[in-house]
Amino acid sequence: MDKSYVSHLECSISGKQYEANKVHGLSDAGRPLLVKYDLQKLKKEVSRDDISNSKVDGLWRYFPLLPVADPKNRITLGETITPLIQLDRSVNYNNKDKGCVLVKDEGRLPTGSFKARGLCMAVSMAKQFKLDHLAIPTNGNAGAAMAAYATHAGIKSTVFCPDDTPDINVREIQSLGADTYLVNGLINDCGKIVGEGKDKVGWFDVSTLKEPYRIEGKKTMGLELAEQLNWELPDVIFYPTGGGTGLIGMWKAFLELKELGWIRGKLPRMVAVQANGCAPIVKAWESGEEHAPLWENAFTKAAGIRVPVAVGDFLIIRAVRESNGFAMSVSDKDIMEARDRVSAVDGCFLCPEGAATLTAYEKAITSELITRDEKVILFNCATGLKYPLPKVLNQLDKDKNINYEQFI
Ligand SMILES: *Cc1c(COP(=O)(O)O)cnc(C)c1O
Repeated sequence: MDKSYVSHLECSISGKQYEANKVHGLSDAGRPLLVKYDLQKLKKEVSRDDISNSKVDGLWRYFPLLPVADPKNRITLGETITPLIQLDRSVNYNNKDKGCVLVKDEGRLPTGSFKARGLCMAVSMAKQFKLDHLAIPTNGNAGAAMAAYATHAGIKSTVFCPDDTPDINVREIQSLGADTYLVNGLINDCGKIVGEGKDKVGWFDVSTLKEPYRIEGKKTMGLELAEQLNWELPDVIFYPTGGGTGLIGMWKAFLELKELGWIRGKLPRMVAVQANGCAPIVKAWESGEEHAPLWENAFTKAAGIRVPVAVGDFLIIRAVRESNGFAMSVSDKDIMEARDRVSAVDGCFLCPEGAATLTAYEKAITSELITRDEKVILFNCATGLKYPLPKVLNQLDKDKNINYEQFI
């Protein structure tokens, strides 16, 4: 189908409308632009069953609810529907309903993280608009995803990372064809360089929420969850929140699905999870603020959620509030302990950000914010393999007598 149902774009703070078929960054008010669809028309022409019967595996099966009109511009690196995995040994053992807590394992996507969803969409739109140079600040995963999709589409890419970004990520980005730079600062410092270079270099700024389409890509997490769960959404979603694209995107998906009449019942409570060492959204939420000021001296081993300031802060807080959810921060110590426990006990390799959602879940149970019989989704946003892992200490000398009793 050579069309899209996009009607226009809208400023998320002022409601001002913008034309769809033009290149846009932020709105005039300096805030994110949201993509709006003609859902009434879509509802008449497309049914939920059309989606369920689609032969396409992966996020492009939701194309009627996505912005890329021409199939030729829909770039793919083989995105897959990411599985829901039960943590029956480490978490569900004392739940009445086994399978109550499910991990959506986004580590299966190209470049090993859910950043693939957002960047697949943003780079596909860049292709549609014939942009020839993209730039991005990144803590690792977004840069890798952008490099992969841009290179696949023949578009030049430049990536700026804080110089303490895990080595594996920066090497991955460079290997995937991006001009890659290490910067002596945090992601917001890198973002400033990308912003300032716009006029001087002519690249397009693909920073989180500074262009309209990464949200649409991340929205597919919500669409996919709905379809996977037979169009009945879970009670609670725990989301590791950095810039918040995924949380905002999923909430947008649920509202669109509701308007289409494709889902029934209550929408999930959205929980924004951050690390104690970088929790601007949690702080703002707890003090009832609409916006979250810059968090000084941000630190956490969960690099994906080390985001000291977010342009979409109010959209995250709004989704959390509208959904009757909450925001919560957890310690790095608990995060790493949860990661090691789940991999060893359940065979499911979480990244630290994913492990943060499990830690938050356990805290929420203890503090009675949720109950054990609620259906919960935890987002594991990247493969655990991209992060430093505990060293193996056991040694064995093949030339000496082996004491086999030690293996019992
Ligand atoms: C980017 C990222 C996050 C945060 O996602 P947002 O949607 O930007 O809030 C969490 N975890 C990992 C591994 C990431 O790469």
